[in-house]
Amino acid sequence: MSLVHLLLFAGLVIAASSSSPGSRLILREISDQKDKAVELNTTNFDSVLKDTPAKYAVVEFFAHWCPACRNYKPHYEKVARLFNGPDAIHPGIVLMTRVDCAMKTNTKLCDKFSVSHYPMLFWGPPTKFVSGSWEPKKDKSEILVIDDGRTAERLLNWINKQIGSSYGLDDQKFKNEHALSNLTDYNQISQAVYDVEEATAEAFDIILAHKAIKSSETSASFIRFIQLLAAHHLSRRCRKGAAEILVNYDDLCPSGNCSYEKSGGNDTLGNFPICGKDVPRGYYMFCRGSKNDTRGFSCGLWVLMHSLSVRIEDGESHFAFTTICDFVNNFFMCDECRLHFNDMCLSVKTPFKKARDFVLWVWSTHNKVNERLLKDEASLGTGDPKFPKIIWPPKELCPLCYLSSNQKSIEWDHEHVYKFLKNYYGPKLVSLYKEKSVSRSKEETVSATEDLTVATNALVVPIGAALAIAIASCAFGALACYWRTQQKNRKPRRR
Ligand code: FAD
Repeated sequence: MSLVHLLLFAGLVIAASSSSPGSRLILREISDQKDKAVELNTTNFDSVLKDTPAKYAVVEFFAHWCPACRNYKPHYEKVARLFNGPDAIHPGIVLMTRVDCAMKTNTKLCDKFSVSHYPMLFWGPPTKFVSGSWEPKKDKSEILVIDDGRTAERLLNWINKQIGSSYGLDDQKFKNEHALSNLTDYNQISQAVYDVEEATAEAFDIILAHKAIKSSETSASFIRFIQLLAAHHLSRRCRKGAAEILVNYDDLCPSGNCSYEKSGGNDTLGNFPICGKDVPRGYYMFCRGSKNDTRGFSCGLWVLMHSLSVRIEDGESHFAFTTICDFVNNFFMCDECRLHFNDMCLSVKTPFKKARDFVLWVWSTHNKVNERLLKDEASLGTGDPKFPKIIWPPKELCPLCYLSSNQKSIEWDHEHVYKFLKNYYGPKLVSLYKEKSVSRSKEETVSATEDLTVATNALVVPIGAALAIAIASCAFGALACYWRTQQKNRKPRRR
């Protein structure tokens, strides 16, 4: 039975490795440059617009020889600075892009949008541009021509009118009104899907930077965590990256001695980015604080933990619990955090039998941290003023979760809390993925939806098998070795 499971898992590795969007790399590389507007062309147009987390897009069609376009560029950049790049003041709302129609390779693309003059600006949901077109006399297009964007002020006014915002060209970072401070909006969690990827990548980077796999204990803890991610991470590319690390682990870390360098001739852990190379940094959206040094990674880590908890099966609940406890204890480089968290782990005396119990444990543990920080941050003034700690979820978000409450205590309806968490960190969290898949081909839509099902169903497979082997041989290396042997002739070698 475990052989079947292992083979199934090997299948998961191969399936996972079949999808690798490169467009976020483009977003990152371009946004690292001085120009904030993202330069699109025939090759990257669809993939960038399909992948962006932004709700709206502006596409400027221009020609590099056109003097009016050159004069317009500073205006366009002034607006792009607000929305694009890691330092965006209002991130995740509008993606500002441009296409140079004077490049021969872009001629067909510009023709599809009936570009009649330069610069010509369009507005619409990003997915509507994907494989899209525009014709002057077509009434019901969701793509609009921006008819009043001649200066930065006028363009921003036009955008403000479309989305009912009041952005100003002088808005400064972290003084924005749009920070997702209203956490009572049930839909905001869908933005966190990108934060979970970023937090996963950041956690992995920290492990590399600290060369934190130092003993057989930390090595086993690392492998178990990676295994949990390979089976249950909500993002396909993180599952793929995790699976690749598992398959290659005995090469990358022989006897637990890992090589961490990011470049170099040989395969090293650093050459296996957990969520692929395309995950941008500094893009936290749901987890973006209103001050420079608040929220971000630790918020993303919580969301990752909650999202894992709702995806596991009953049989894995205790494994998932010990894996997360060990991970925090070994690899979360915040002493106070891991010590407190470890205490709460140690207070669990009876192994979890139900996934529900684990989901509720992570939730109540998080609330205990909230409760403590609520007091600390109020007295020290160290919290994020826009995101004061609360006992969560607030009534506005889940009225049915409350049986009764007063100033001193809350009586929870645990069944409703569980249902709420399952949906909030399950389908709701990945709904942005699904929404975006609507405009994709049938094949892609199926695979996007599989993101959920694979992440949900595959859990039992590797963990069950891993546990069986671990118990039988006391060596996780055996599992990695088996996978590797199975994969060696099939897997594409990374060079
Ligand atoms: P976070 O607490 O990070 O929460 C992120 C999001 O999760 C919230 O915005 C909300 O939408 C949701 N959420 C909130 N509560 C719950 C809940 N109970 N269940 C489900 N979802 C919820 N900081 C310290 O100063 N001292 C510590 O000891 C400490 N321990 C930590 C232990 C761990 C394991 C982690 C991951 C972090 C710890 N932190 C600690 C950091 C701290 O918990 C916050 O992550 C940080 O202060 C940022 O807070 P935030 O406002 O982004 O919300």
